[in-house]
Amino acid sequence: MNDPSTRPVSVEIDNKNQQLEIEWADGHRSTFPLFGLRKNCPCVNCRGSHSEMGKYEMQLFFVDPPQRFEILKAEAVGNHALKIHWSDGHNSGMYRWDLLRSICPQIYQMKEGE
Ligand SMILES: [Zn+2]
Repeated sequence: MNDPSTRPVSVEIDNKNQQLEIEWADGHRSTFPLFGLRKNCPCVNCRGSHSEMGKYEMQLFFVDPPQRFEILKAEAVGNHALKIHWSDGHNSGMYRWDLLRSICPQIYQMKEGE
């Protein structure tokens, strides 16, 4: 886990603006809309089966959110994941850092725009 691109240096929760921002050790910043994060919760309940875990639906980060979500608390799990406590009571999703980095909406948008 020495890859700076998947090592977070800060996590900022902004419920007012409905986003979560991660700053990575390589200097990149990723801003995730909360709706997309909540809808992409990687836990077994939300994914349906283990084979769906780790798959993210990128389009959920770009919708006009029909629903607001708030984060009560986010905490690191070991050094590999972020556990998010949502205001709707859901808290079993472990968002792995490498997955979060790989679905960074800013990088995805850049790729789409090529
Ligand atoms: Zn879930």
